[in-house]
Amino acid sequence: MSEVLNVSEIFGSNVFDESTMREVLPKKVFAEVKNMMATGQEMSLAAADVVAAAMKDWAVSKGATHYSHWFQPLTGITAEKHDSFVTIPKDGKMIMEFSGKELIKGEPDASSFPSGGLRATFEARGYTTWDITSPAFIKESSTGPVLCIPTAFCSYKGEALDKKTPLLRSMEAVSDQALRIAKLFGNTTATKVDACVGPEQEYFLVDRKKYLQRKDLIYSGRTLFGAPAPKGQELEDQYFGVIRERVGGFMKDLNIELWKLGITAKTQHNEVAPGQHELAPIFDTANIAVDHNQLVMETMKRVAERHGLACLLHEKPFAGVNGSGKHNNWSLSTDNGVNMLDPGDTPNENMQFLLVLSCIVKAVDIHADLLRQSAADVGNDHRLGADEAPPAIISIFLGEQLEDVVKQLIETGEASTLITGDVLDTGVKTLPNLVKDATDRNRTSPFAFTGNKFEFRMVGSDDSIASPNTVLNAMVAEAFCEAADILESADDFDLALHDLIKRNLAEHQRIIFNGDGYSEEWVAEAQRRGLPNIKSMVDTVPALTTDKSVKLFEKFGIFTREELESRAEILYETYSKVINIEALVMIDMASKQLIPAIIAYTSSLAESVCLVKDACELADTSAQEELLVEASTYLSEARKALKALIKAQKEAYAIEDAQEQAHAYYDMVMPAMEALREPIDKAEMIVDKDMWPVPSYGDLMFEV
Ligand code: ADP
Ligand code: MG
Repeated sequence: MSEVLNVSEIFGSNVFDESTMREVLPKKVFAEVKNMMATGQEMSLAAADVVAAAMKDWAVSKGATHYSHWFQPLTGITAEKHDSFVTIPKDGKMIMEFSGKELIKGEPDASSFPSGGLRATFEARGYTTWDITSPAFIKESSTGPVLCIPTAFCSYKGEALDKKTPLLRSMEAVSDQALRIAKLFGNTTATKVDACVGPEQEYFLVDRKKYLQRKDLIYSGRTLFGAPAPKGQELEDQYFGVIRERVGGFMKDLNIELWKLGITAKTQHNEVAPGQHELAPIFDTANIAVDHNQLVMETMKRVAERHGLACLLHEKPFAGVNGSGKHNNWSLSTDNGVNMLDPGDTPNENMQFLLVLSCIVKAVDIHADLLRQSAADVGNDHRLGADEAPPAIISIFLGEQLEDVVKQLIETGEASTLITGDVLDTGVKTLPNLVKDATDRNRTSPFAFTGNKFEFRMVGSDDSIASPNTVLNAMVAEAFCEAADILESADDFDLALHDLIKRNLAEHQRIIFNGDGYSEEWVAEAQRRGLPNIKSMVDTVPALTTDKSVKLFEKFGIFTREELESRAEILYETYSKVINIEALVMIDMASKQLIPAIIAYTSSLAESVCLVKDACELADTSAQEELLVEASTYLSEARKALKALIKAQKEAYAIEDAQEQAHAYYDMVMPAMEALREPIDKAEMIVDKDMWPVPSYGDLMFEV
């Protein structure tokens, strides 16, 4: 019998959450903390000292010796610097200390984090400040347990140097504007509206020993060479398939680690590609969901190691099979329990829902380029539009029922009828008949309405979900603000409301598409509709700094123009750096491992021809000779392509302007990389397996 897990005991055991605080803090201080969480007011230093001391005692009781301000710089991953609680000994005795000041504010040297020109290296000051709405937690790793305090990271002048600060600003913006909408419909008791997010995380697992034999996986997270395995995903036998024993062991361990951190790991299953899996937690407020998603990714990697596995979070670790993404489920919920995206049973009569929906349609249409940008990262370029993920075109799926409501509203200003789900007849007497949903699912849409939330499916598996949610919150705040401005001053509310819903939908209906997002026809149709189709990350960057974007973000104090420009700069630099690393890895592997392997193989063939002929003149050596010709052809093609890649990399590397350089990597280096891969992958198909120096696709994907 397997041991019984006490999940409710494990859950949150490493989190300094509300219930722990209630237990360990004096009543008055606890009330102050609660008030600060609700209103964002500053905490007195005296109270902070009490909280810090209690937090330290709690952490020490769990074995922690260090604390860290945990933050999310623009590298897209998290950063931490550990400080121990150790103080100068008094009377030869060391006392562990942690002050309120240390809890509230940290000052890491910020000069080595990307700032996109916002700061010179000599201006090294950066501050981390406690995000009290996301609880402190203990991270367990080989360094021993560390108390982590989720923080925002700003420069000396207050510019955001991280992903958290703008996210928090956007959450406030959408809360303020959504409250105005809720009030217009009679909800006067709500005091804030939370952006709620549930991210589904896809990942691959491979054997760690094999992983360590591939420089491309180690340095770039994806295979840069690799011939297809005899089997891919064509049998469709992976998705929801039985979970392999070793993977099951990993998942079990992962769940426990996540539960300890208060992360509601809920769903796990095999994904479409061999070796691919998914994990989804239950949704939470956006900033906590973002923090938790970072911890999920980090924990996946750590737990994988324990099981002799490596977790690949890259968007496209293997060519020819599906890559990994993240589905960002998003909704808005008032603090008195109303999901503003819940249509209820009769969406056609639910005027608040229709207004909210029409505002979202408008926002997504106006800011399609920004939303696309928010899901751009280097790896995602390989995935979008590759028949496995939505194309790089933003559109909204509403489903049959809502599409019909929208059509009626545009045509007549009223939606008097509603398509309802009928009964699903399975044709089997012993199975109960089910009432069908009014709408089928559409997996090909990048932004799909799924009952009471929108699912933004374009996000990359490796990316932080902070940017997508910042953009979603901001653009919807803008549409709500414009709607509230009109409706609050309307003489005839009902009339103004009908007009506004109709106008929003009529003017922005081009963004709604319910068909097959993977089809060629859609690409052509989207072009006719004038929807942007931005294929590469490099081409998404200008969307950040358009007048439209600056106006949006400045209006709500989410980003200044300078902050946006700095982020654009960082994106270009990141693109160039990542492709540069990939190019160098390819050059290294081709020069030192793969081309030598092909040479060795051709030599062995040549030797065989000579040996056999020497032994017996009558023997037929045509097979060896044919293979020799084929392998030699790939060899010379590879050598030529290698030289071309070396040249392209040097040229791109020398370019100074960030934007121009990123384009050079995209237009010149990437094609040179593909050209090198081609003959080498062909050679892999014929070279003796014992001579091929790295594990194959089959070894990696099937032999876990
Ligand atoms: P589906 O099967 O439709 O993709 P699930 O119900 O499995 O959806 O949910 C997927 C993710 O969406 C989960 O993380 C879930 O917690 C989250 N989710 C569910 N409802 C909401 C909501 N109202 N707002 C945000 N996320 C939600
Ligand atoms: Mg989903």
